[in-house]
Amino acid sequence: MADTFDVVVVGAGPGGARAARRCAQRGASVALVEKEFIGGTCLNWGCIPSKTLLASAHLLMRARSASEMGIDIPSATPNWPRIQQRRESIIAGLRKGMQGGMKSGRIAYLEGTAVVHSPTKVTVEANGQKTDLEAGKLILATGSDSIEIPSIPFDGKIVISSTEALSLLEIPKSMVIVGGGVIGCELGCVYAAMGAKVTIVEALESLLPMLDSWASRLVEREFKGLGIEALTGRKVTGVDKGASSAKVNLDDGQTIEAERVLVAVGRRAAVDRAIVSALGLEMSGPAIKVNKRMETNVPGVYAVGDAVGTTYLAHGATAEAEVAAANATGSSEEMLDYDLIPRVIFTFPEVASVGKTEAKCLAEGLDISVGKGFYKANGRSVAENDTNGQIHAIRDNAINEIVGVTMVGPLATEFVAFARTLIGTCEPIRQITFPHPTISETLEDAVHEALGELLLE
Ligand SMILES: Cc1cc2nc3c(=O)[nH]c(=O)nc-3n(C[C@H](O)[C@H](O)[C@H](O)COP(=O)(O)OP(=O)(O)OC[C@H]3O[C@@H](n4cnc5c(N)ncnc54)[C@H](O)[C@@H]3O)c2cc1C
Repeated sequence: MADTFDVVVVGAGPGGARAARRCAQRGASVALVEKEFIGGTCLNWGCIPSKTLLASAHLLMRARSASEMGIDIPSATPNWPRIQQRRESIIAGLRKGMQGGMKSGRIAYLEGTAVVHSPTKVTVEANGQKTDLEAGKLILATGSDSIEIPSIPFDGKIVISSTEALSLLEIPKSMVIVGGGVIGCELGCVYAAMGAKVTIVEALESLLPMLDSWASRLVEREFKGLGIEALTGRKVTGVDKGASSAKVNLDDGQTIEAERVLVAVGRRAAVDRAIVSALGLEMSGPAIKVNKRMETNVPGVYAVGDAVGTTYLAHGATAEAEVAAANATGSSEEMLDYDLIPRVIFTFPEVASVGKTEAKCLAEGLDISVGKGFYKANGRSVAENDTNGQIHAIRDNAINEIVGVTMVGPLATEFVAFARTLIGTCEPIRQITFPHPTISETLEDAVHEALGELLLE
């Protein structure tokens, strides 16, 4: 006999785990099925391992520049095996914590592959065992895969994806990164700080091309200081592999030799074909098509996270999971404006933005004012010896409201949630007292300048 649940969630990444937790909190009986590791890409091959390596890389850089702050550290060098052990133990600890959370949240966590027969029938297959589940509602949170370039297939050794790049046994002497997006730039920072010669090849005209051009330019300038070579407006045409390195050929005839070639040209929504055809899911390319309620075309079936191809961000997945969970348990919610989901990039320097970019405002024909805050003018940033960066706050002059903030510099990824609260309003900024001296005063400067006229009233 099948075990019956109000909600069955497929995939235990941030989207699935949040959906399961929220449904259970709302009183539903919930099964969460995962075929690999709890935490999904985010915990095992994404956000957490990359931020763990970046944290070691950042400390190494700080140690190397410590003498500028009067601290002599004779030699700061990476102990790569120790860094990798730390990554593994952090992941293991967080997995354990998540599993405990499922238990205490009274969620049935089932390890195995979910084979979906219909909106109400799912079989979990693991080690030859099959468990049948009866589902009231189904939430699909099956994630994404690294995009492979057909002419440069992954081999897991020389031509690698971000998954292998997070767990290399040694620091390579040289690395070519194909793709100057978020993942390529973050991992480029890790390996450049660790001593590898890093070259990033990006087909578009700038690194991190989704940013306003001032922000991309600032990042590129800082990358130069890190020793990262950015070849923009250039394409990789092929890779000639040797026994332990490869020659990377570019469209301008240049050839670069590197021990590792990291292909980081983005992620693509992933869901088992069998699930798509069993349910008759409507797709948009590789992604499951959903409406603002995170409903698929099949009644009772919801989809969230990378599988729906919207943000490719963990917190985008959890935001969607909140909506799907509410709707699957009797409420009625819709996803709000996707622009309000913060974009975060943990490079050196950090980058974050929320709301509209300047480019988007101009494309929409908005009349805007841009206020700027400079870290180099901020007392705390100077004291911390961390002054590279700017914050731009954008005001829509027609409505006198902040509509977007982009930050490049220290703690940008931490400030962005607060910056989000300033969007769509102009009153609260006057009521908020920013503590002094804090780096957050750079954001205050930018917002005040953007609202300058208003403050003079
Ligand atoms: C290197 C890297 C760094 C990143 N850094 C960040 C960051 O700093 N911040 C950020 O917000 N995002 C980051 N991301 C993106 C983030 O990891 C994803 O957006 C997020 O994990 C998506 O969550 P999800 O729940 O949709 O899918 P996933 O986390 O991919 O989870 C999907 C899960 O579903 C399981 N599954 C699939 N099919 C089945 C099935 N049939 N049965 C059972 N289980 C199944 C999979 O095994 C997987 O565990 C990063 C990604 C990468 C690769």
